[in-house]
Amino acid sequence: MILDNKGYPNMARQYSLTPRRVPPVDTQYRRIVTEIPVPESIPILEKLHRYEPVAMQGQPPIIWDRAEGFQVADRWGNRWIDWSSGVLITNAGHGRQEIVDAVVRQAQSHLLTNYCFPSEIRAQLVERIAHLLPAPLKKVFLLTTGSETVECAIKLCRTHGVKLGGREKNVIVSYEKAFHGRTLGSQQAGGIPALKEWIVNLDPGFVQIPFPDGFWTEDTSFACFERRLAERGVTPAQVAGVVLETYQGGSAAFAPVPYMQALREWCTRHGALLVCDEVQAGFGRCGKMWGFEHYGIVPDLTCFGKGISSSLPIAAVAGRPDVMDLHPPGSMTSTHTGNPVCCAAALASIDLVMRENLAGNARVMGELMHRKLHELKARTPQIGWVDGKGLVAGVTCVKPGTKDPDGDLAWEVVRGCIERGVLMFSPVGFGGATVKICPPLVIHEEALRESLQVLEEAFAEATAAVSAAAV
Ligand code: PMP
Repeated sequence: MILDNKGYPNMARQYSLTPRRVPPVDTQYRRIVTEIPVPESIPILEKLHRYEPVAMQGQPPIIWDRAEGFQVADRWGNRWIDWSSGVLITNAGHGRQEIVDAVVRQAQSHLLTNYCFPSEIRAQLVERIAHLLPAPLKKVFLLTTGSETVECAIKLCRTHGVKLGGREKNVIVSYEKAFHGRTLGSQQAGGIPALKEWIVNLDPGFVQIPFPDGFWTEDTSFACFERRLAERGVTPAQVAGVVLETYQGGSAAFAPVPYMQALREWCTRHGALLVCDEVQAGFGRCGKMWGFEHYGIVPDLTCFGKGISSSLPIAAVAGRPDVMDLHPPGSMTSTHTGNPVCCAAALASIDLVMRENLAGNARVMGELMHRKLHELKARTPQIGWVDGKGLVAGVTCVKPGTKDPDGDLAWEVVRGCIERGVLMFSPVGFGGATVKICPPLVIHEEALRESLQVLEEAFAEATAAVSAAAV
């Protein structure tokens, strides 16, 4: 099996800025009435290309102008059903009035920032999150980005490890193909080699082992965990923490429940902290409020971001009080921790997720979506694997009869969906072979069925084009 997990799909493939004529679409939820990209949008795209780094060019050339609920619109009359949630941000839906009102109310108070000085709204948010989480995750530290939460979790794991077992107990175990962010520590905890070539001097205290996804890694038993560590020269006594995405974002892969329960027990036995990175999985996305609930475990630390506010930049680490309190006053801070406007957005978004039972909607809609995706897989030999829970799914494209990832096909499918009015993105990793589906949790059955029909059409067109090219 050739597994190109060094792939940079967004660099290898770039969206063309030459407008393409596409058939018009006009339904209740989707509208495509121009060429794609829109000719009038080209100057804006060119300006972005001129003034931003090339690395920012990975997403489809659609100029977001308005977004509401599960839809995104440009200003030239096109409207998409959004399957990206802005890459897993808008759990409560885009542009919710309740969030807008909360942000405006807070902004009108003129308290726009207060650094780490106390504020009532920050107190409300940390209390709200702590109350929603199970014991012992009862202390919360607010940050701004997901990467920062992972950095903080690494810091806490090593502080805890060294205190417990001396300087040798500093190893962070994580998983191949994982993504935890792009800063120095979070990128090293990640498991996509190409993304960390720039680091050059990799810290030997970060090791990755295969993720038990059941597709790329067929042996999903926990029995090989210590053997994998030994192969990398690590003893259990050296492990300060095990960090994993609750599901792997690149493919929406979950680990088996018995594996996670054994891992929980192993971490407790060896004084290693278990960290679930819920930056994608939290706040209802997987059909439960927290993704780790699917495993029947509680980690020692959790990282949150993205869907916490459905809007403004805010993130959080929640954890065991004894671990969260390891650093003395003033030594674990951040300038924008609990920015009051962001706190207002997060509180309003959490209220919506709870009041509208959006985890419940994600579960019910997710059952429909996963059933349909498995049906599609059964009649499409180019789909090698479907995984995910609730309203997140990964559809991985392969060369038929093999596990060789087919990034070209996934790219064509995503492009075909966008041209038909379903907006998506291409995740990094495995040659870009996974089509990721993660609509806002407010999507309803009619819109979900309609967008799944679009996916089916895009697959039919893309596979026919690939077969024709092969003749
Ligand atoms: N962890 C996970 C699981 C993520 O998906 C991401 C972002 N895609 C991050 C961490 C990093 O978050 P941010 O981009 O906010 O730094």
